[in-house]
Amino acid sequence: MGSVEIIPNVYQLTIRGVNITVIAEEELTLIDTGFRGSSPRVINFIHSLGRSVREISLILITHHHPDHIGSLVEFRKFAPQAEVAIHEADLSLDSQLLLPKVIRTVLHFPLFSALEPLLNPKLDEVTLKLKGGEVLRPLGTLKVIHTPGHTPGSISLFSPQRKLLIVGDTINSRYRNLRLPPKSVSSSLSQAINSIAALAQLDFEILCCGHGKPLTQDAKAKVQKLIKEHHP
Ligand SMILES: [Zn+2]
Repeated sequence: MGSVEIIPNVYQLTIRGVNITVIAEEELTLIDTGFRGSSPRVINFIHSLGRSVREISLILITHHHPDHIGSLVEFRKFAPQAEVAIHEADLSLDSQLLLPKVIRTVLHFPLFSALEPLLNPKLDEVTLKLKGGEVLRPLGTLKVIHTPGHTPGSISLFSPQRKLLIVGDTINSRYRNLRLPPKSVSSSLSQAINSIAALAQLDFEILCCGHGKPLTQDAKAKVQKLIKEHHP
């Protein structure tokens, strides 16, 4: 597992290629939960800070894909009082539609259909349905921005004070190059382009994507370049 302190008290952990953000303030906030089975390593990390998993008061899910929501049930077991927030558009849809097409196809075979709950955990755990526009407590002000495209209910999280933008899979980062989210696992690329264009207007210096390292150099310029490539 890799871990990096993005800014003081904000850590990005990478487990099986998926980023999980831990914000360690008076209370702990988790952004995304990783694949199923990721909780022990996150909990070890929380212990290394001298903190306890029971201090998690908020779990924010950037979107309903199994690599981001997979360990939610595990965390709720250890921190049952934690608020769990996801955008309502990722709740109300037929959850199968949010899975990549290739996986949906495989799940039609009886042999594999038993895997469905593993890949696509139920969202009974959600206590806070987001619409976008909410201002949350972490980092003084953490704004929820609805950025549909990768999934209908994808959200990005923006801290204006810390100039930090966390986008989940709304933007794909590979070797510090930014791209649109992959078409095969996204609900609408044209929506994604509009969402990214809105993000490009924000005043941020650090960009964190759902996969890949945080971008601390020229992050805003790179998002603007991505939009220029795809937005007429
Ligand atoms: Zn995704």
